[in-house]
Amino acid sequence: MTELSVPLAPPRAASLEKTPLERYVAPARPSLVGLSREELAVLLGGIGVPERQRRMRVQQLWHWLYVRGAQAFEEMSNVSRDLRVRLAEHFTLARPEVVAEQVSADGTGKWLLRLPGEQAGERPHEIECVYIPEADRATLCLSSQVGCTLTCTFCHTGTQRLVRNLTAGEIVGQVLAARDRLGDWPGRTPPAGALVPTDGGRFVTNIVLMGMGEPLYNHEAVRDALLLIADPDGLCLSKRRITLSTSGVVPNIARMGAETGVMLAVSLHAVNDALRNELVPLNRKYPIAELLEACRNYPGLSNARRITFEYVMLKGVNDSLADARALVRLLKGIPAKINLIPFNPWPGTRYECSDWEQIEKFSEVIFNAGYASPVRTPRGRDILAACGQLKSETQKLSARERLALRAMAMTE
Ligand code: SAH
Ligand code: SF4
Repeated sequence: MTELSVPLAPPRAASLEKTPLERYVAPARPSLVGLSREELAVLLGGIGVPERQRRMRVQQLWHWLYVRGAQAFEEMSNVSRDLRVRLAEHFTLARPEVVAEQVSADGTGKWLLRLPGEQAGERPHEIECVYIPEADRATLCLSSQVGCTLTCTFCHTGTQRLVRNLTAGEIVGQVLAARDRLGDWPGRTPPAGALVPTDGGRFVTNIVLMGMGEPLYNHEAVRDALLLIADPDGLCLSKRRITLSTSGVVPNIARMGAETGVMLAVSLHAVNDALRNELVPLNRKYPIAELLEACRNYPGLSNARRITFEYVMLKGVNDSLADARALVRLLKGIPAKINLIPFNPWPGTRYECSDWEQIEKFSEVIFNAGYASPVRTPRGRDILAACGQLKSETQKLSARERLALRAMAMTE
């Protein structure tokens, strides 16, 4: 199973990027969640499935895993009993385990998930996943790393250690775990005790990679997971309904676009390099001009397929009307949407959220320049599920990472 290991990132300049402290080691009985069809075929060969049968068996497993939501091999009624037993001896269908569930007054749900395959003696790794139901869609916000490679000064995750990259299985597994909890599979209902209301079918329609981590510093696993989430014979989410948010890892932007075709969101937050260097230190490596050039070249852009520019509203820092006008000028010529995010404070931060009046004035400048509804009401604030907010207990537990979740339901 060495092919599933996530390689350690090479050492980098400490102030800009962190190096993972741990790497994923597959357990003795690994999960089949997140593997490609080719990897599944190899594993089936390893437990004695003859070559002529492998393709058909892979198709069956795929269907049970991603269309039916099977959680145990016994459910796979069209797979022979003998093979089901052999599969269960060697593999699991494990996804992250839901260890806590919370629901906000506005219906936003948040799950604390523990990653499968912990090694003996290893600290448990926990991530959070947020579900945001709205009238016409329901968005799931996924994490890509435990911690984050980067050090943005307004983001709590940026102040924490990077523990490790998630595997493709752990990223897709967040979708499976959420759908298990929602009873969002054919013929299933939510498990006993599930709290998150689904109102008879407001199931997962959109995915955003806006939880913990920088997805473009975990490129291969994120790419494989997104392709799996969009697979027409599996979870089958439209690529237009999947949005990846990056702080601006320029060399990987076009590559991710070409390899997956998903929608892009860029955390801009400042209109000049001096300020962006401070807020998003990665800007020192990839300044605004290079970032916007990569955006202009993002594959498949059109008025119907725009890049979302995220702009966190920090009082007295980046929220003047001159900033708003400069933002409009900067994005001229790029098919863009602007998403103003009210800053979510966390203990010890030096920033404050802009006054609501200032956010409205700022948003008016942007609206008058032709951008639709640039600011959205934060969701799930009461359960600390909004952008950059933390699970309060996580601050007390040394074994648990502090999680910043940003869950803006903003895709088409
Ligand atoms: N690492 C990626 C994706 C996760 S962050 C990125 O930075 O784009 C998702 C969004 O939440 C980003 O736009 C990020 O800048 C924003 N964010 C981080 N901390 C925040 C906070 N405290 N308040 C509001 N937004 C925040
Ligand atoms: Fe990482 Fe994004 Fe937070 Fe920056 S804003 S530290 S890239 S999670």
